[in-house]
Amino acid sequence: MSQKKIRVRFAPSPTGYLHVGGARSALYNYLFARNQGGEFILRIEDTDVARSTEESLKMVMSDLKWLGLNWDEGPQSDGQTEIGSYGPYKQSERLDIYLDVAEELLKIGKAYYCFMTDEELEIQRQKFIAEGKNPHVSSPYENWDLEKAKQELKSGRPGVVRFKSQHLKKDYILNDLVRGEVRFPSDMVGDFVLLRSDGMPVYNFCCVVDDHLMKISHVLRAEEHLPNTLRQMMIYEAMSWEFPLFGHISLVLDEDRQKMSKRRGATSCFQFKEEGYLPEALLNFVTLLGWSHPEQKEIFSLEETIQLFNVNRLHPSGAVFDRVKLKWMNSQYLRALSNEDLWKKTEPFLKAANLKLPYEDKQWAFSSIAVFKTYMETLVDGVTFYTALDDSKFEIKPEASEVLAWEPTKVVLSEWAELLKVHVGESFTEAEFLKIQEVVKVKTGAKGKNLFQPIRVAVIGQPHGTELKILVPLMTKTSLLKRASQVLASLK
Ligand code: GLU
Repeated sequence: MSQKKIRVRFAPSPTGYLHVGGARSALYNYLFARNQGGEFILRIEDTDVARSTEESLKMVMSDLKWLGLNWDEGPQSDGQTEIGSYGPYKQSERLDIYLDVAEELLKIGKAYYCFMTDEELEIQRQKFIAEGKNPHVSSPYENWDLEKAKQELKSGRPGVVRFKSQHLKKDYILNDLVRGEVRFPSDMVGDFVLLRSDGMPVYNFCCVVDDHLMKISHVLRAEEHLPNTLRQMMIYEAMSWEFPLFGHISLVLDEDRQKMSKRRGATSCFQFKEEGYLPEALLNFVTLLGWSHPEQKEIFSLEETIQLFNVNRLHPSGAVFDRVKLKWMNSQYLRALSNEDLWKKTEPFLKAANLKLPYEDKQWAFSSIAVFKTYMETLVDGVTFYTALDDSKFEIKPEASEVLAWEPTKVVLSEWAELLKVHVGESFTEAEFLKIQEVVKVKTGAKGKNLFQPIRVAVIGQPHGTELKILVPLMTKTSLLKRASQVLASLK
């Protein structure tokens, strides 16, 4: 490894929430920096003004914070300040810097102003294709005198700045940290644009300028950027700047091995947060999308990963986002929480779902969450379980109608209500509940589903759902009686 100070960056384009693929790039850079005692930098690539928003930037920063991926340099969450001595860290605030480098490339003859119109470009492209040639731009302006081109611009003729790649007839070899040797023939790309006609610089250009000026030592990013890396290497070479080390990590794919799609479920960290995933679980899961623990462990803390992280363990093959595994992992993290912590994390979801529950009764809260803990895979599952305990949400579901029409249902429910009434005390232990159920069986002669399903309907309004021996001990006699009489009344 080079002697240079380790400086890595995560460089999102703020055009929406943080995608899990982006989170993984951020995570690997973060882990590498922390493992090596280096710096982790957040740089905002917002030169695509039409798509970048301040709102998205805030969302991305809040998602990174939620995951616990704190950065050492870059913009801060207040939206005003920045930390670090290599700023500004938002590309939209660095335009003068890019213009200066573009001017330098123009001066040394590595770039030129091109005035071809879109129409001319398209005609040329079609012609090259028809002739069976490479459809790269061949601009008549390539060798124009710079002063002459500047006069044209002054006179109002729109022009872009193109990088001269046509004469670079050689292979570019990248020793990728993840993929090993990657060979690019230079004619893979044509004379590409550095500055658009409105003066805005493009991603490939800004990225090189910033990585150089911000002294980035390693670039770990998704493999979809490999073709960009060739362009970027050309710019580094033209400026006689040293390349950083590159590592291109595999794409994150859905189970069907296609790009992750919203149709299959959540794709952004924010959605996973809303669905009740814990940041620790999501991070643990994402860590394994392209990296493996040396002892093949599946569950490990961020601290442990920092100690063990090594770029050599990043895999080049595609990583499949297994949603079932993520859910399982989340359930393991939920189970490892204390009842108090799990309640604290679940409570906001219950309140957001408008559940009327005895929130102030902490003893009830901790004992109920202790019961549900083993069944919860996400915090949102808590809403399903607790909804059954909220009287205001009790209703007789349409799927109960068959059970309600059975012959023995009425006697079963009358007996059930009677036994509830004579029970001493406001609550039931599991054993007391099972005892009552047994007495109903003996007294009415009903058994199997004829016994259990009517009682379920009388407790949760439907014949299927969470086991009653779990729920009933968390409910009050008043509530159970109210529900039973509502169901009995519906039979008349
Ligand atoms: N803004 C680019 C992206 O979001 C960053 C690519 C890079 O890391 O160089 O994909």
